Amino acid sequence: MLSLLLPLLLSHPTTASEICTPYPPPYPTSQNLTTCLDSLISSSTPLTPWTHLPHCIYADQSPHCVYTNAFHSISIITTPDEASTSLNLLSHSINPPFFAPKKIYPIKPYKVVSIPGKGKGAVATRRIQKGMAILVDTASILAQAEYPADVTREEVQDLMGAAVGRLRDGGEGVRALSRKGRSEEEDDELEDILLNNSFAVVLGGKNYMGLFVDVARFNHDCRPNAFIHFSETTFAMTIWAAKDIEEGEEITITYSAAGMLTEERQQTLEKVWGFKCKCSLCTASPSIQAKSDSNRKEIRHLQDQVGQLAQKGKYHEALKSAERMFELIETEGLTDQMGDMYEVPARLYYLVGNLEKALEYTLKVQNELQGYGVPGKFGMEKLRMLDGFIKKIERGLKRKRKAKEGRGKK
Ligand SMILES: [Zn+2]
Repeated sequence: MLSLLLPLLLSHPTTASEICTPYPPPYPTSQNLTTCLDSLISSSTPLTPWTHLPHCIYADQSPHCVYTNAFHSISIITTPDEASTSLNLLSHSINPPFFAPKKIYPIKPYKVVSIPGKGKGAVATRRIQKGMAILVDTASILAQAEYPADVTREEVQDLMGAAVGRLRDGGEGVRALSRKGRSEEEDDELEDILLNNSFAVVLGGKNYMGLFVDVARFNHDCRPNAFIHFSETTFAMTIWAAKDIEEGEEITITYSAAGMLTEERQQTLEKVWGFKCKCSLCTASPSIQAKSDSNRKEIRHLQDQVGQLAQKGKYHEALKSAERMFELIETEGLTDQMGDMYEVPARLYYLVGNLEKALEYTLKVQNELQGYGVPGKFGMEKLRMLDGFIKKIERGLKRKRKAKEGRGKK
């Protein structure tokens, strides 16, 4: 697409408005914007997949640059080293065919509305089934978390300005996000927005702040009905339904680390995100909060216990603890990417000879991995390994059935 469009665009030495071209996103999002590009580079340069020359400032340690792909409306602030090594691995995924989860509604299943006491929030416009993807949102800005330390304030603002200004909508979507006025000065607007709305993500083993314009509209809840998952290979954050969500219900995610107890959770939310949580759990009676805290403590304890019991060969007891843990995780709305968690009971059920249950849990792991869209190299290896394990279980089940039939004939 890029290589087809560029010669056309560049051969037109006209005004900016004339080189705008409609570029619909490859999957349903709330963005349906017109592409206006400035300082485009040729697609044949080694800078592909970036559409702009990097915009750099030179700090003591290493330059920090802005890399932009305006068609996908993403800017990454990082060092040239990072861009040419770990991030380079990702370049294939920024070009089509692009990431799309299998379990997604063809029409966006929510709308952003005003919610009393919360500003804006996302409300379901239809019944959303557990396990469905609600939204796939490519990061608008990914900024290496350490960069503000070794560059000046003005330089941070300069990088942010370039990163936001080069986005497909000229930064309109980012600028519309809320800011809590953490910074006093007017010209810190973008920095303020980034601090107030970004999620911590990991790219190539390094910490980044990720700004996702559509995800930022979803409010926090300490017992959410949806959860987020960031893909390192596609730069996209997906919101998944953790339970069935009714039409008209607010869709919420959690901003704090899963499993925190009431007090530490509220403190973190206030310190990091700048708001006092008034979700149903935080405003519930002390007895309900105490019950939730005790559930969360038990989950932590069970997590350790499952591993310890399994190591000692006490498989049946380990399974009992695992089942209890899943029950509590569901009660507390802490469902997250469970793939890895299901793998333990899958192995344990196999070891105790309950092949039906082993298959059930292995299929859950497989489903989750495939459901999250294009898995990375690690994910692919895991899927191959799971395939082998599933075949092994199925062979075992076949033998079991034959043995049963044999006994029936006697
Ligand atoms: Zn809360």
